[in-house]
Amino acid sequence: MLDKYIDEQPSVNELLCNCINTGRYSHAYLFVVNGYQNAYEYICSFIKSICCPNNHKCENCNICRLIDENTFSDFKVIETDSMMLKKEMIVELQDYFNTKKLYANKRVYLIKNCEKMNIAASNTLLKFLEEPESDIIAILTTDNINQVIDTIKSRCQVIYFNGSSNNTINSLFDNLTKDGNIEYDKFIEDINTVMDFCIFNEKNGVSTIAFTKKKWHNYFSDRGMFKYALNIMLYIYLDVINYKLGHALTYFSDYVDNIKIIASYGEVQYYIKKTKVILKYIDLIKYNLNLNLCMDKIIIEWAGDNDE
Ligand SMILES: [Zn+2]
Repeated sequence: MLDKYIDEQPSVNELLCNCINTGRYSHAYLFVVNGYQNAYEYICSFIKSICCPNNHKCENCNICRLIDENTFSDFKVIETDSMMLKKEMIVELQDYFNTKKLYANKRVYLIKNCEKMNIAASNTLLKFLEEPESDIIAILTTDNINQVIDTIKSRCQVIYFNGSSNNTINSLFDNLTKDGNIEYDKFIEDINTVMDFCIFNEKNGVSTIAFTKKKWHNYFSDRGMFKYALNIMLYIYLDVINYKLGHALTYFSDYVDNIKIIASYGEVQYYIKKTKVILKYIDLIKYNLNLNLCMDKIIIEWAGDNDE
């Protein structure tokens, strides 16, 4: 059933197909959605693979249909539109599963956005997870792994979906080099140059001003290149913000070590402020702004205390 996702989720597929084929499941899975559009469709296919008596060759038997309709008695979904998932919902789930199972050899519950659980709900679920009945499989999802408490994380097999596949470095290349004057290899080099500059600046603050010739202007000397490099920098900081918020990296997932370093110097507000400054100068640069001064001003505004 998961075969159709092989291109979108190769590594997740490998892992879960192995569970399905061997019949050896973890008692709890935590899926990090990462903006993956087909996440719930995917998870539903996985649940059908677990519960369907025809194993993974099916998708249209009675049980598979009931799962699709969310009326299968051995499968329960917990979700809420509100900000908080309350203890009562978990207690209700437990009570439900304490009644005798009816059809399948496995019972499954799905808790959507488990980061919404308050402390009481989390503690109740933890007790439930700690006494796993061999035939019950928990499936949790989250949009923000950083908001899931550690004790829950540590009791689950954590599975990261690949994020939305069209937001990659290639789409960034297409976007930022529209006039076609920059080769892909040069683009990758430039990303490294800009990342180095960002890391250098995080470490050195305003002192960076003494090094802008060596670290910036030697690479991005004319107005067009300067603006293009500022755009690369903007996307780097957007991914730094993604990282701080516990979201998947949108563009620079291959550079996660560098993103982590850059992200280690402040809170999310600090990086939001930086992106605002970059945006401001991307806009200003089309005017007759002196490029040397421009970078100095950016560095000074980054280091300033006030927001405006
Ligand atoms: Zn079936």
